[in-house]
Amino acid sequence: MHLQSFLKKLFTAFASVFFPPVCSGCKSNLSGFEKFLCSECLNNLPVFEPVLGHPIHGQVLGGRMPLEHLGCFLRFTKGSRVQNIMHGMKYENRRELALFLGELFGQRLKQEGFVCDILIPVPVHRKKLKDRGYNQAALIAYGIGTVLGIPVSEGNLIKNRYTQTQTKLNREQRMLNLKGSFELKNYENFKGKHVALVDDVLTTGSTTENIWEIMREVPQLKISALYLCHARD
Ligand SMILES: [Zn+2]
Repeated sequence: MHLQSFLKKLFTAFASVFFPPVCSGCKSNLSGFEKFLCSECLNNLPVFEPVLGHPIHGQVLGGRMPLEHLGCFLRFTKGSRVQNIMHGMKYENRRELALFLGELFGQRLKQEGFVCDILIPVPVHRKKLKDRGYNQAALIAYGIGTVLGIPVSEGNLIKNRYTQTQTKLNREQRMLNLKGSFELKNYENFKGKHVALVDDVLTTGSTTENIWEIMREVPQLKISALYLCHARD
């Protein structure tokens, strides 16, 4: 074993004694067999039933784009464990957590018979990617893809313009803010395919709509949208 990897293992062992891993949902200490979430949180995740085609999500994008399927996994409410989980995934550098949640979502999608040809994570601008180190939508997509056996396409859909945070904007303002900020390369690769966009949160649907504006140029494209959680104000 290289000294460096030995030291890393040693450090991890020490850290787990002094800072035992905690649940991303409720911050209680995890027991040996638990991973990311304690059994209590894992068994009580507010999962939408069904995750595909739930009427509450249809209202958000309501007919503005011809989606094959619209899927949302978790219900996001303020102060809930889902909020803690999302925060951990975004700001605490928890790549494995994003992958794990993608896998859980994938299992539900499998139960409901979801299929498509390609998963495309909603991209972030390279500046944001540099700041954060990873795009959680891509990790969620890889988690889903692993369970369903569907390839993930990264790098063809890109975000070419840096946009300010959208939290305080309404749907119309978000649409304007994002207009023209996405670009699709290698159009021909997607001809006749069923593509599913993957993102972490569904709010107003303006990101998906902006992407649809460019993807609709692809001949015979079918499009679905999958979101890890739904947060509607
Ligand atoms: Zn917990």
